[in-house]
Order: sequence, then C-alpha cells, then structure tokens
Amino acid sequence: MAAQRTSVEQRQQPTIFFVIPCYNEIEQLPITAPVLQKKISALKSSHLIAEDSRVLFVDDGSKDGTWQYIRQLNKTDASLFHGVKLAHNRGHQNALLAGLMTALSQGCDAAISLDADLQDDINVFDEFVKQYVSGAEIVYGVRSSRNKDTWFKRNTAEAFYALNAWMGAETIRDHADYRLMGRAALQALSEYGEVNLFLRGIVPELGFSTAVVTYERGEREAGESKYPLKKMISFAVEGITSFSVKPLHFVTGMGMLSILVGIGMFIYVIVSWANNNVVSGWGSIMCSLWLIGGLLMLSMGIIGEYVGKIYLEAKHRPRYVIETEI
Ligand code: UDP
Ligand code: MG
Repeated sequence: MAAQRTSVEQRQQPTIFFVIPCYNEIEQLPITAPVLQKKISALKSSHLIAEDSRVLFVDDGSKDGTWQYIRQLNKTDASLFHGVKLAHNRGHQNALLAGLMTALSQGCDAAISLDADLQDDINVFDEFVKQYVSGAEIVYGVRSSRNKDTWFKRNTAEAFYALNAWMGAETIRDHADYRLMGRAALQALSEYGEVNLFLRGIVPELGFSTAVVTYERGEREAGESKYPLKKMISFAVEGITSFSVKPLHFVTGMGMLSILVGIGMFIYVIVSWANNNVVSGWGSIMCSLWLIGGLLMLSMGIIGEYVGKIYLEAKHRPRYVIETEI
C-alpha cells in the first residue's frame, strides 16, 4: 500500500477506502453499515481487495447523532469502520473531498466514493476493482437509466448536460459521485486549490486512463434527500460558472447586438425627422429602455457571479476543518 501501483500485478488486491459523506444520516446508517460490512468482507475473502481496506465515513457536521453512531461502529469493528468529523457542515462536495484526501494521506491504493443511502448499487464494487486492477485510474459509475427519477429531475439534468456540452465543459453523463479513483488521480486532485469545488467537472479534467461501470440506481431507504431544489440549483450554477467564461462572452455578444439595434433606431429617427415625420414612437422608446436595462442588469449579474468567485478564492479559506478522526 501507499506506493503508486502501475502494472497489473502490482495493482492486484488493492487497499480500497470506501469514502462516504454523511449529513444527518442517523436513520440510514444502521441500514447501510451491515450491508457494507457483508459486501466488503465478501470482497476480502475473494481476495479482490486487501485486508486493510476500510470504510471511511465523513460526518459533514451532522446535528442528529450521526457521529456518535459512527463512533459506535468504530468500537464494534475498528479495522473496518473509520471516520472523520468535520467541524461544520460544508456540503457534500467538500465532505467528499475531505474523505478522499484523508484516504490519500492514510495510504489507500484507491478510493471508491458513494452516498450513505446506498442508492448506488454496491454490487458493482467488484467491477470497479477489476477495472482498476486492469489499469484504469478512474472508474466512473454511470446509471443505466433514469426511470426512477421524477420527470422534473430527469429534465433538469438533461438541460444541465446540454448546457455543459455547449460551454465545452467535460462532464460524464448520468454519473454522480459514485466512482473509483486511484492514488495517482487523488494526488492530482489534491493539487486543485479552488474553494468552490465541483468534482464532477474537475475529475474528468485530470485525464488518466478511465473506465465506466454501469448500474441501476435505487431509491433512498430512510431519511430524506439532502439535496432539495435550492441546493440543486446552486450546484448547477457552481458547475457552470466554475468551468467556463462562455456566459461572459454571451453577454458581450448580446451587448453588441443591442448597440447595433440602438444605432439602427437612431438612423431611423434621423431619417423620419428629415422627412418631416413627427416621431411618435413612445412605445418603442419604452421598449428599448426596458430591453437595454434588462440586458445591463443581466450582464452585471453574470459578471458579479465571477467577481464573487474571485473574492472567495482570494480569501484562501480552508475548504474543510477536520475535528476528530477515529
Ligand atoms: N451530504 C453531505 N453534506 C450535505 C448534504 C448531503 O455530506 O450537506 C451527503 C448525504 O449524507 C449523502 C450524500 O451526500 O450521503 C448525497 O445526499 P442525498 O442522498 O441526500 O442526495 P440525493 O441522492 O437526493 O441527490
Ligand atoms: Mg441519495
């Protein structure tokens, strides 16, 4: 473990850390833990993964006794269940990053990230590891269908991918954060210092040899989704503004267009004045006033979005603070 593995023989039986961000998952963890325990011990006894492979829970500042439960798990099986506790709730992406970086520093060969609710089918762990052994540094879990999603979630996701593709940002379709990353990829990820982190956009940017594993996504068994609409929207805005300045170009183009329209109007007014036509276009003036006002506001909004980012990045705040580790 710890040293980077390159050849197929060296990659045999890797030490895998299963990294799980948890936010108020007290109802879910008692279901998740035994299922994982069973699956992982099966993987160990079939010699697919090393004996020191483990689960790393990241408590993302939960308020409901999630950490107490993780500690209890650690007491019952200290070699399997490990945990880190963040001092505050920093959101899924940062919690996941904290887990991945802890896994890296504790010498994993590869880390598999998944959600606490086990909506992502853990029976494809085998496939993830096999792809890693045969040389893939990053393995993406991709959903085979989205038919369990609501109409709304399906269509907003579709729009999100279309927008990303248009802006030239690379995202993997129907892939959430269920993936395996080898040591080298984790090392590369650790070099990214930005505060506003969007893993699904950064990971494909890392390069390396990749593979895809498809699976069927289930439903959450207990507790409720920690991704309400508000978080989904801010997640999408994050994804879009983190990776592209195309919205800025778009606004510039719109601005130019509206100036052209303005010039055209001016010429029209001059011509009608020369022909002794009284300008009676109160309506058109009001329209263009509003149009240009709107455009200005929109551009300021988008520029503000980027300025806000610069402000946040300039502060170089830590992205997470680990309180305790077990
Ligand atoms: N999560 C987290 N911090 C947050 C919100 C969520 O660590 O602020 C975790 C949560 O515990 C779960 C994962 O992120 O393990 C995904 O959340 P959820 O299953 O609620 O999202 P959904 O599947 O509804 O998109
Ligand atoms: Mg979920």
